[in-house]
Amino acid sequence: MNDFEATRAWAEAQDAADPLRSFRDAFHIPPHDGGDALYFCGNSLGLQPKTVRAAIEAELADWSELAVEAHFRGRSPWMHYHEYVRDAMAEVVGAQPHEVVAMNSLGVNLHLMMVSFYRPTAERPAILMEAGAFPTDRYALESQVRFHGFDPSRDLVEIAPDGPGGILSLEAIERAIAEHGHRVALILLPGVQYRTGQVFDLARIVQLGHAQGCVVGFDLAHAVGNLALALHDSGADFAVWCTYKYLNAGPGAVAGAFVHERHARAELPRFAGWWGHDKATRFQMGPQFVPTPGADGWQLSNPPILALAPLRASLELFTQAGMARLAAKSRRLTGYLDWLIRTRLAETLDIVTPNDPAQRGAQLSVRVRAGRDAGRALFAHLERHGVIGDWREPDVIRLSPTPLYNRYLDCLGAVETIASWQATSA
Ligand SMILES: *Cc1c(COP(=O)(O)O)cnc(C)c1O
Repeated sequence: MNDFEATRAWAEAQDAADPLRSFRDAFHIPPHDGGDALYFCGNSLGLQPKTVRAAIEAELADWSELAVEAHFRGRSPWMHYHEYVRDAMAEVVGAQPHEVVAMNSLGVNLHLMMVSFYRPTAERPAILMEAGAFPTDRYALESQVRFHGFDPSRDLVEIAPDGPGGILSLEAIERAIAEHGHRVALILLPGVQYRTGQVFDLARIVQLGHAQGCVVGFDLAHAVGNLALALHDSGADFAVWCTYKYLNAGPGAVAGAFVHERHARAELPRFAGWWGHDKATRFQMGPQFVPTPGADGWQLSNPPILALAPLRASLELFTQAGMARLAAKSRRLTGYLDWLIRTRLAETLDIVTPNDPAQRGAQLSVRVRAGRDAGRALFAHLERHGVIGDWREPDVIRLSPTPLYNRYLDCLGAVETIASWQATSA
């Protein structure tokens, strides 16, 4: 069992003993009513690290003082800028450095990866995905199927959730792969389901997919910076993610992509650009594209320095904290919120997210038992009282205590705010 207590004294003692407590001071916490808001929305937009402003200003200064020369003589020469985030990002996702690259946005990377990794044939035309996926993923996959001249009604196979609240069991995935695998070119699943917060077993899915001859890729939007991932060891062919959620790199920040090292030198078809060309000869400006080995070979353009600077600043905090320590705190912190909801709010709320800590990250998705209208009313009450979560149609409130900046006291405060609504609406 656990040692949790629903008291301020207990929560404050936990926060005081938290080895990661100083990281909260590294962030701007949005204010509410003279104090700090209780921010539970790191799953949607992570908070701003205080070091970001100086990081951007340093690049602005180099631009104003050195202009084009900053590519070579800047404090952080722009020529190599995307490489400055590589090691830290590889560490966060559990990959080798040459397997990851920061570029574009998530949706763009998903399409670029599919150019290389979705190669449908008449015998094997299909993509296997989850029903209820994030819209971009469905739109991207459906449009790729159409682009190749196949029919989404037949060749986009969606696995229906088989558990309460939209949970999708591993058995259902296994059954779908066993049934459809022989005609599936690509399996694409999330690391963490955005609406339910459910975690998927990447290594097992790769194993099942590869056994049937399928390529396997992941959308890690809600997994990166949330779970201690082992992307290389999972054997996944590719993965994509954004960096503005748990990675705190700012609105619309530069996204990430992973290409497993077994494809690092493969002559995969791709959409090419000069920044993906072999570094040694890029500036010879020759007509023949020779890809840089590894994930860098999928870059199109010279990188957006002002957008990478915040990612670099943010990743420094992840390097200092370490994913293993963050994941350990996250389990306990989310476990505390889960326990508080189950013990204090069981009549009002259902938790959709699996109770098993191995099947969830920071996020808890809850539904108000009284239905959608009551759910909207509770959500409005939370907003009024400075508890910031988010609403996902049709009826889910997502609350994500993140281990870098959330406290045990925040979890208690959120539950007390919900309890005060429960009292008035009863
Ligand atoms: C957040 C999220 C996106 C957003 O895509 P962008 O290209 O960054 O706008 C896409 N897919 C999933 C699963 C997400 O969680």
